[in-house]
Amino acid sequence: MTQNSASFKMASNLPHLWLPYCQMKTAPFPPSAEKSVGCTIILKDGRDLIDGIASWWTACHGYCHPHIQKAVIQQVQTMPHMMFGGMIHDQAEILAHRLAKLFPDSLNHVFFSDSGSTAIEVAVKMAFQYFLNQEKPARHKLLSFHGGYHGDTWGMMNICDPEEGMHNHFREILNPQYLAHLPTDPQKKADLERFLKHKGSEIAAMIVEPLVQGAGGMLFHTRETLKILRDLCDEHDILLIYDEVFTGFGRLGEMFVSNLPEICPDIVGLSKALTGGTMGLGATIASQKIFESFLSENAEKALMHGPTFMGNPLACAAANASLDLFETEPRLEQVQKIEKQLTKELEPFRKLPHVKDIRIMGALGVVEMDHIPNPAALNQAFLKLGVWIRPFRNILYLTPSFTITSAELTKLTHAIGHVIEHEFT
Ligand SMILES: *Cc1c(COP(=O)(O)O)cnc(C)c1O
Repeated sequence: MTQNSASFKMASNLPHLWLPYCQMKTAPFPPSAEKSVGCTIILKDGRDLIDGIASWWTACHGYCHPHIQKAVIQQVQTMPHMMFGGMIHDQAEILAHRLAKLFPDSLNHVFFSDSGSTAIEVAVKMAFQYFLNQEKPARHKLLSFHGGYHGDTWGMMNICDPEEGMHNHFREILNPQYLAHLPTDPQKKADLERFLKHKGSEIAAMIVEPLVQGAGGMLFHTRETLKILRDLCDEHDILLIYDEVFTGFGRLGEMFVSNLPEICPDIVGLSKALTGGTMGLGATIASQKIFESFLSENAEKALMHGPTFMGNPLACAAANASLDLFETEPRLEQVQKIEKQLTKELEPFRKLPHVKDIRIMGALGVVEMDHIPNPAALNQAFLKLGVWIRPFRNILYLTPSFTITSAELTKLTHAIGHVIEHEFT
């Protein structure tokens, strides 16, 4: 790619916009999206792109689903926002009820916020205060795992994998917590057990993205690994937090990983697909045991948190409409079909040069390369093929909308095959 030709427009030509994870000096000028319909993004210059990412896997029903649109329009005409301090409204109350019903009985108290990071921040705060409210201040640490990602806010950076590059500039100023390897083999299990014998009494909560660690490299582990964590948490009186911001709402084939009773967490955080890809909203769902530890005659034992836009009625209306669609349209069957097709069409790439691994779970397809020298250049190659796929580090991945047609999905997998054969030399 000739980045130095005068005609080549760069992100640095943007006078005011500052883009995420973007070296503004060297990045190519980004495409400008104008419309989104179904699984297609229509650019301002008229090009169409089949979307392989569903806007960071939020748009599970495709874009502009009329049922969600209708609910949001109705809500914007009635009451777009209302403070949640000292007041409630139907959309939030109904959504809390429906979410609680989707989880095992023990997870039944829903606290709303506005993003994935804040959903997990609230989970962490609940965990610490659970122990403080019981006069157990020794539980002042968190344990998270290599490969983990829990958001970009300051508190979350403390529990993301420090080696993953997104936050490592800040290493010296952060307040690091304990970090362990997931117990995916007997050696790592023994290491974790030994560590907890030593430090378990300091730890308030363990935090993990169950089954798939997303932004850390789309790394997979099993339910057996989660069962080990659940048992260790029980043994050491540690709370187990699942960050289901990525995995929630059917992405991996089940509605939530948390649903299996023997690996059920104490607190779970949701966001991303919660509003069907329309608006920011976070939900933190806590068990009865956690909730009860906040009940007291003492006002200071209340949960001390309250984002301005928590429980925003527009976002709750979108989330309720999204849950309607999970009930009325065959989303989980669609995920199964996508899983089969991804397996059929991505697996053959395993034998191509530079391909290190192929991983598929539900509507997530991952092609791990030995390395990707220039992810931005690959993104440009995908644009030329009419697809929106954005490599990161050594990963090419697909997290399409569940409503994607099999022809659209084939266009995405073919584009990946084409790029592997022609852009890696
Ligand atoms: C995206 C993500 C977050 C952060 O969510 P934001 O809405 O970007 O704050 C946290 N955890 C996981 C697993 C995620 O995938």
